[in-house]
Amino acid sequence: MSFESLGLSDPLLKAIAKKGYTTPSPIQEKCIPVVLQGKDVLASAQTGTGKTAGFTLPLLQILSGAQTPQKRPIRALVLTPTRELAAQILENVREYSTFLKIKSTVVFGGVKQGPQVNTLRNGVDVLVATPGRLLDLIDQGYISLKDIEILVLDEADRMLDMGFLRDIKKVLAIVPEKRQTLLFSATFSKDIKKLANGFLTNPILVEATPENTTAEKVNQKIYHVDKVKKAHIIIKMISDGDWQQTLVFTRTKHGANKLCEKMQKAGITAAAIHGNKTQGARTKALAGFKAREIRVLVATDIAARGIDIPLLPHVVNFELPNVPEDYVHRIGRTGRAGANGIAISLVSHDEAVYLRDIEKLLKQKIPTGVIEGFEQGAAPKEDPKEKRPQNHSPRKPRNKTGGGNWGKNKNSGSGNRSNNSRRRTTNK
Ligand code: AMP
Repeated sequence: MSFESLGLSDPLLKAIAKKGYTTPSPIQEKCIPVVLQGKDVLASAQTGTGKTAGFTLPLLQILSGAQTPQKRPIRALVLTPTRELAAQILENVREYSTFLKIKSTVVFGGVKQGPQVNTLRNGVDVLVATPGRLLDLIDQGYISLKDIEILVLDEADRMLDMGFLRDIKKVLAIVPEKRQTLLFSATFSKDIKKLANGFLTNPILVEATPENTTAEKVNQKIYHVDKVKKAHIIIKMISDGDWQQTLVFTRTKHGANKLCEKMQKAGITAAAIHGNKTQGARTKALAGFKAREIRVLVATDIAARGIDIPLLPHVVNFELPNVPEDYVHRIGRTGRAGANGIAISLVSHDEAVYLRDIEKLLKQKIPTGVIEGFEQGAAPKEDPKEKRPQNHSPRKPRNKTGGGNWGKNKNSGSGNRSNNSRRRTTNK
């Protein structure tokens, strides 16, 4: 399958070629034609599947096909949970619309609204937004959604997870009833289904199974180690291995800061990225990391959503996540777009319950390695008194089709998903 055969216009094909894509990803193959037909879409896909192009390319084609109204009202809105993801999507929208007369911008909190308002005043066709700032600017009269033709709810599960349900409902109440709606979500909880039933009209179901992509493409390894030795071990791994670009995950903001300081003391350039950092600091850290000026980025799960770093070689779970799906999201940061990657997890005794849940979700045992000099006497035993997060509801087994190597494997599969009602119990 080629991009040409999906019915995309020449200016978009030119932009795709400029990006260097040769073959559509499974989600793009399925999504682009139905969006072009004007249908509502309910898509199961997460970051790493190429979903952004899956909705952006047809959206741009639809908008550019119609006559641009003189005053350029906002005709397409992409709602997304995090600032980083919003910025990333805007970058993609701009790249794909290089050869079109489409204007786009982004609004999100944590930065001054002045420049955002100025851009909006000049008129934009496509707006990418996080819910809070969007509603703020609507309340102040800077944004009108009365001309919206296409609404995209991206990473809907994460938006609900972050408490945006009310905000989403407010937006849905404002946008015109006659519109095209596209909802993307990695998991399908009852709440997501309710949202979809209420706001999509005869949606076409589109599925891709990125989890398998990551699980198959990523070389995963577990090291059972003592908690107190973790910082020492990770510093040794990065130094001895001369790793130049490593994304490290901690469970808490405080943990991220502490580890970052230790890295810096050991002479490794590192930056932390989490919810307490200003948007400026987060953007700077990410840019430094992408430019390879910073060797290690220490992140919490929420802050890391939407980070797109092609060909990231190493991901380390300094601490395992207490939500098993987050493990899949984390290791999805490596081995992206068909490349191989390494994901290492340092697991201490107290994390045995998390490891068990992750392996249950993956339906596989993650291979265990040994770091010389830091072996733990025995594999961790589970403490029956260990407090588990509430509402645990593991996913059903995954379908084994789907592939990250988009040029070769054209199966997109249809992974079984179950409700993911488990919530984070830590402060990100
Ligand atoms: P996304 O899931 O939208 O965040 O995309 C994940 C990564 O895949 C991004 O780096 C995209 O630039 C890249 N990508 C998207 N579509 C393709 C494609 N058809 N071929 C190769 N890379 C792609």
